[in-house]
Amino acid sequence: MFHLQVQNLRKSYGECEVVRGLALALAPGECFGLLGPNGAGKTTTLRLCLGLTDPDADSGAITLLGLPVPARAREARLKVGVVPQVDNLDPDFSAYENLYTYGRYFGLSRHALVKRIPELLEFAGLGARADSKIQTLSGGMKRRLALARGLINDPDLLFLDEPTTGLDPQARHLIWQGLQRLLKLGKTILLTTHFMDEAERLCDRLSVMDHGRIIASGSPRELIAAQIEPHVFEIYGDTAQDWARQHGWLAQRCEQSGETVFCYARDAAPLLKNLETYEGLRYQHRPANLEDVFLKLTGRELRD
Ligand code: ADP
Repeated sequence: MFHLQVQNLRKSYGECEVVRGLALALAPGECFGLLGPNGAGKTTTLRLCLGLTDPDADSGAITLLGLPVPARAREARLKVGVVPQVDNLDPDFSAYENLYTYGRYFGLSRHALVKRIPELLEFAGLGARADSKIQTLSGGMKRRLALARGLINDPDLLFLDEPTTGLDPQARHLIWQGLQRLLKLGKTILLTTHFMDEAERLCDRLSVMDHGRIIASGSPRELIAAQIEPHVFEIYGDTAQDWARQHGWLAQRCEQSGETVFCYARDAAPLLKNLETYEGLRYQHRPANLEDVFLKLTGRELRD
């Protein structure tokens, strides 16, 4: 049985269809990533799957932990952990109190919470901050507390909306470690992210979404192999564009972004030989990654 199954999901706001016939299926224990530029429809999709937003009348079916959504969404949500994009922790309460009130909302007994909260604070690396008020916690601590709060009901399935946005590298690594521990425990995770390294590191499978549709799916490796030549050359400097005009044919594909020329090649040797002899250029040769896939599929123009 899938933990989440979605078929032909549709959602419009006025004339604008923001989710257009989406299909998803999450197997137990997998980490699934939903990637897409701003406005692609990721958050709306998460909200629809949780029954927090109603789909269009002609939308297909959503099944969350075996229950139909939105009809039995409330019941299904009791078994799901949700970490929203915006930290909605209660600023008047301490870390402990935030977990306690949230746990009571889930109907957990005082007795159960007194045992569970210290474990969750420990998991989040906040064992020493139980009594700290929210405003005294750093951004990373707040995200970890929001994650701990999402786990209060010991859910099998977790929804994480951009779990590390706005965090510094140290804080991101701590969150990733926490998520990897949860995956080892057999939890299922659905996450949205703008960070390709995060998706590559955590996700077994992912879908790239744009304009309300899924435009590519697979494991990070599969997507890279299917979409992008294996060698990437990033070429910088005043003469990069001249070089590309004369020698760009050595690559399968070249793209310009600002001052940088990106060349995608099946064979690195001819480019390496050429670039070594070309004066006044700086370049970096690296393997293709998920960010290359994302930019190829969704373009380099800014989305607001
Ligand atoms: P993402 O999470 O991928 O950035 P969203 O799901 O937040 O995308 O938004 C998708 C599109 O739906 C955007 O164009 C956004 O402006 C629009 N949208 C989202 N929520 C609403 C709403 N409540 N009313 C009207 N438009 C909305």
